[in-house]
Amino acid sequence: MQPTMELGHATQDGTTSHVSTVPQFGLGTFLMREAGECRDAVLAALRMGYIHIDTAMAYENEHEVGEGIQMAIDEGVIARDDLFVTTKLRRPHAVGFEETQNRCRQSLENLGLDSMDLYLVHAPPEEPDHRKPTWEGMEACLEDGLTGAIGVSNYGAHHLDKMRAHAEYMPSVNQIEIHPWLQRPGLRSATEAVGAKVMAYSPLARGHKVNDEALVEIAGEIGCTPAQAAIKWCLDMGCITIPKSSNTGRIQENLASLEVEISGHMEAFSCMEEDYVSGWDPTAEP
Ligand code: NDP
Repeated sequence: MQPTMELGHATQDGTTSHVSTVPQFGLGTFLMREAGECRDAVLAALRMGYIHIDTAMAYENEHEVGEGIQMAIDEGVIARDDLFVTTKLRRPHAVGFEETQNRCRQSLENLGLDSMDLYLVHAPPEEPDHRKPTWEGMEACLEDGLTGAIGVSNYGAHHLDKMRAHAEYMPSVNQIEIHPWLQRPGLRSATEAVGAKVMAYSPLARGHKVNDEALVEIAGEIGCTPAQAAIKWCLDMGCITIPKSSNTGRIQENLASLEVEISGHMEAFSCMEEDYVSGWDPTAEP
């Protein structure tokens, strides 16, 4: 049994709406570029017991995610209802109410699914005037059952705070870069304060940090691999996390993070903070 968390959307009247369950661990699929790479990685992961896949229209691989899922379903490896699929509204498409709903339908078509489990705004729409109508489009996707949950990605505390004025449903998730070298306690708290769960992307800092000296030392003491230690830290900090690998051995290795015990090493992890952003950082934008 993999660990799960409850997702819900805080409403204006103080209740929580559209409650669902998300597996805390999943497979990321960014930069799976070769033809067949993403399909094969998704199928391998599902065969091993992964039950959550994260993609985005921007990754241009939703169709391969869909193919991998369909192959796994046909093999009897997993049932659709036991699988959690997250995808995202591209930033250039986050321009308004109808566009958002149309793109959600397009993602579903790419994925070959009737509905997704979580739909995220990939980053705060660049034009501030587009933020409210885009979120209204997301809310319509939720109400129409195109997705089981809605959320945001790369939102800073100020972006979340502004949503309180207009959102009928607050986001259930904020997907942000989090790892031992970028721990973001303030943004994690701000996310939780609006009733959302933190989804940690790039838990290995895009692979840049798997040979980090401090991490290697902690992993040696624990008796696990450095990647497993970093992934388990994200989970133990209360985040959902979605490490990416296209390599069967590493896909398996990352899943085995769930079994790793790091509790005696939290102090050493907290000393690893270095404000290291491995990719982009729209959370800091106005
Ligand atoms: P990760 O931190 O997951 O690192 C992936 C890199 O690490 C790849 O190069 C991979 O190589 C390597 N790797 C994976 N496992 C291991 C291992 N066990 N040992 C050594 N190296 C390993 O980076 P991502 O940026 O891909 O983040 C994860 C996911 O988060 C993305 O795939 C995407 O789904 C999501 N994401 C979301 C963003 C957003 O803006 N919302 C931005 C960035 C990511 P290999 O494949 O060869 O194993």
